[in-house]
Amino acid sequence: MLVVEDDPDIGQELVQALVGHGYATTLATTGAAALEMAEDRPPDLVLLDLGLPDLDGVVLCRRLRASVAGSVIVVLTARTEELDVVMALDAGADDYLTKPFRLTELLARLRAHLRRQSGTGAGVGAVTVGRLHVDVGARRVTVGGQELALRPKEFDLLVALAGRAGEVVTREDLMAQVWDENWFGPTKTLDVHVSVLRRKLAELGEDPARITTLRGRGYRYEASPAAVAGG
Ligand code: CA
Repeated sequence: MLVVEDDPDIGQELVQALVGHGYATTLATTGAAALEMAEDRPPDLVLLDLGLPDLDGVVLCRRLRASVAGSVIVVLTARTEELDVVMALDAGADDYLTKPFRLTELLARLRAHLRRQSGTGAGVGAVTVGRLHVDVGARRVTVGGQELALRPKEFDLLVALAGRAGEVVTREDLMAQVWDENWFGPTKTLDVHVSVLRRKLAELGEDPARITTLRGRGYRYEASPAAVAGG
């Protein structure tokens, strides 16, 4: 695990806590050092502070994603603007935590990510809804034959929704299936991921209204264009 944090107190504290929980962890205090260390020895997970002195966190996130494709990137941010979170997720982050956060919360997220990363792809199959085709085993998505690049969480979310096309999938089910079965925290991250998913689908000509919001209940991936047109 690689912790990227310029504040030496927070960085050391995080590393000590993670090592104490059995994770082999190294600390990078600059973006440049983080890139070098990640390329030298790709970590399974990167904890990335967005506020670094030498490199913009979102830029670093994009460069890390390009150089270590298989790593999970969890962004730590003091910023509360949704736009920053969306930018980081677009740049390749898989998840984010807003400072200050509890260590137990961080550990729960890390466990969930690492478990999923080492998962064996249970329930392998394919899902086709209209122009959307998802090869679950290969983790590939196409829309009208064009490849759709998704982050791991976005992929899992799409499978959870499109795999039950035409049905309401509750927020609780989505949080359980995509994030962590024991996750009872705030679920804003779900809405952020849905909005990214809609935008990416729209970029390949799919109607973003395919994913219907049922306020307070959940989401539904519409099974047919008629359902989309009918609202
Ligand atoms: Ca910082």
